[in-house]
Amino acid sequence: MRPIIENIGYQFGPGLAWLLTSVFIFLRYAIPASLVFLLIYKWKRKAWLSRKIQQKFPKTTQLRHEIAYSALTSFIFGGMAIGIFILRKLGYGELYFEIAEFGWGYYIFTVFFMIVAHDTYFYWVHRLMHHPKIFRYFHLVHHQSTNPTPYTSFSFHPLESVLEFAIIPVLTLVIPVHASAFFLFTLWSIFFNVLGHTGYEISPSGFTSHRFFKWLNTPTHHNMHHRYSHYNYSLYFNFWDRVMGTNHPEYDRQFEEVVTRTKIAPSPSRPLAQFPTSP
Ligand SMILES: [Zn+2]
Ligand SMILES: [Zn+2]
Repeated sequence: MRPIIENIGYQFGPGLAWLLTSVFIFLRYAIPASLVFLLIYKWKRKAWLSRKIQQKFPKTTQLRHEIAYSALTSFIFGGMAIGIFILRKLGYGELYFEIAEFGWGYYIFTVFFMIVAHDTYFYWVHRLMHHPKIFRYFHLVHHQSTNPTPYTSFSFHPLESVLEFAIIPVLTLVIPVHASAFFLFTLWSIFFNVLGHTGYEISPSGFTSHRFFKWLNTPTHHNMHHRYSHYNYSLYFNFWDRVMGTNHPEYDRQFEEVVTRTKIAPSPSRPLAQFPTSP
């Protein structure tokens, strides 16, 4: 059994396969990001204002900038995804299509393996991109959104896009991965990424000090990364930031400040507490 995109590649050539894959990747980001945006930035804008981490709203120019770079990112991701199929055709990469080949236990293991491997890869590559010598060439575009929105989640410079995606072909070279397990992993990644950039906190009070839940990152965690830059580098889990001492010292306090705000929304002009911006 061959995946649809591989069949298109055989019938119409790699160019069309690249274009269709890029459009698919863009829609898979743009549809959930737009739904979340419409829900919380339009429909529930006033009702949920107390949960808005930074109390100001982004300008249209920021949204345009984010969507334009996200389209570029989708095109690069699409090309690199086609590269996985080309590698497979050349005999490299362990993508498989029959679950029975390795069983359900292995299938579930691979989904968790990819999430943990990606979390580790992201933390260290992210810290590397914050090195002063390369920051502006790779990561500045993403940080131009100091008050992120759901559309920020794919807003990368092309060089960062290549680094962000590079883990994917490496994973398929390391272990056999079922195509749908791969798809589940990317769904999880997009879900968490959009959630982390919403600019709204949805977790309950006590989440960041709970013995289990504190290991999971919150939207406040990544929002503080966009705002203060030199802390909170981790992606899904609050593991590497805790181990390496890079959690923002005010993370727990700011999280509680957001989730315990009065239901009567504060004024948008009300200044938030200021925290140090560098280590
Ligand atoms: Zn960063
Ligand atoms: Zn971000």
